[in-house]
Amino acid sequence: MSMDDTSSALRAVVLIRDVLSPHRWALWTQRSSLIAYIVVVEAAAVAATVTMAATEPVQPRDGVILAGLAGMGILQAELGRQVERVRRRVNGTPHINMTSVWTFAGVLLLPAALVAVLVATLYFHLAVRSWYRLRRVPAFRTVFNSCLVILTCYAAEVVLSGSGIDGMYGALDAGWGSVGVIALAAITYFVVGALVAVPGLTTRSRTFQELFGGWADNLLEVATLCLGILTALALATLPALVLVVIPPLLLLHRGVLVKQLEVAATTDEKTGLFNTVGWHNLATHELTRAKRKAHASFGVLMVDLDYFKQINDTYGHLVGDQVLKAVAAAITSAVRDYDSVGRFGGEEFVVLLPDIAEADVIMVAERIREAIAELQVEIADGDDRMVIKDLSASIGVATYPNAGAAVERLLQAADKALYKAKDTGRNKVVSIMDVA
Ligand code: GH3
Ligand code: MG
Ligand code: MG
Repeated sequence: MSMDDTSSALRAVVLIRDVLSPHRWALWTQRSSLIAYIVVVEAAAVAATVTMAATEPVQPRDGVILAGLAGMGILQAELGRQVERVRRRVNGTPHINMTSVWTFAGVLLLPAALVAVLVATLYFHLAVRSWYRLRRVPAFRTVFNSCLVILTCYAAEVVLSGSGIDGMYGALDAGWGSVGVIALAAITYFVVGALVAVPGLTTRSRTFQELFGGWADNLLEVATLCLGILTALALATLPALVLVVIPPLLLLHRGVLVKQLEVAATTDEKTGLFNTVGWHNLATHELTRAKRKAHASFGVLMVDLDYFKQINDTYGHLVGDQVLKAVAAAITSAVRDYDSVGRFGGEEFVVLLPDIAEADVIMVAERIREAIAELQVEIADGDDRMVIKDLSASIGVATYPNAGAAVERLLQAADKALYKAKDTGRNKVVSIMDVA
């Protein structure tokens, strides 16, 4: 056995030990509403599995298919281990998982209870081999996620049995009419998979985008389900052909990683806003667009919190970071959807306001200043709660084309206006047009 195999075996033992020792479950440290939700989901998965196992007979062929799908899933996970680790570190996308290729193929080929066995096998393997490095995902998360997937599979099974088509074998017999049924099962899998993952994730508030993943993530799930259909088709006709699914799957996995790295490279980790690079890209794009049009103008705001060092000195850096997140959210909600908010490190924010007249830029800046001044940031420190308020910010304003025709010039102008605001008392908006 190599070192790697030894530690995998050890991790498997630790995972099983954690699951089998209820008094040590990290689950109990969660909010009680979350615990309740998890217990209900898991009980439903177990009850459904027992019911299905009692009603659907298992044939010898099913054992071979189960072994084949589990083997392929493990092969894919082993070949994509490196990519998956990086991907999960960059973006812990909630419900997206390429194992759907095998689990959805299982839905189309296996009796429901065996699908549960397949899901459990694949998730156990992923937890032990690929996900362990990530802040040690607690065992209850893995168990809970497997149960969500099992329920998702059952929802798709119900669509199949409801339409009288017994999976892929029945579909091959039934011909054309069954294509729609398989598509409907895939759609059900997609929608239920996204929906059941929602409430369980609310350990903190998440944005819509974080909940459902981005466009790329959803396309990935669709492509994954398509490959699942092809896998089932191959296994039901010429089983050896199933190997052709592996290369496109690995390529897909890699493609998603590239997209996620791109997003990560332009995002500020602390606040989720654009970082310097991301904001610059957008501003350059906006500038090019404005230059092509005759009377286009856009605004650049530079926002710097007043006496922020005092917050850090009084409450510590961690509280300071929470205040920064709250300020980021306040600025974002004070502007329109197509305005872009960035963080240039520290407690300096920049806002790009496309297609806006000079007078309105000042108005938006005032709105941001007021939103920050009214902000009450609730900080939870164990059982203690405190509220940090009386924040303020100074804002410098520059507008294209009056203040400059290059992104750097506009930023310098906004910065100059910002320092005028600081010099003349703080908690105010100053436009470069008013700076001599
Ligand atoms: P003013 O702008 O009104 O002149 O005073 P200030 O105290 O805000 O001064 P300045 O903008 O120069 O200082 C920025 C401070 O912000 C310094 C540092 O302690 C703090 N800071 C910078 N980056 C971070 C961060 O990522 N997290 C936290 N918590 N604090 C940060
Ligand atoms: Mg400051
Ligand atoms: Mg500063």
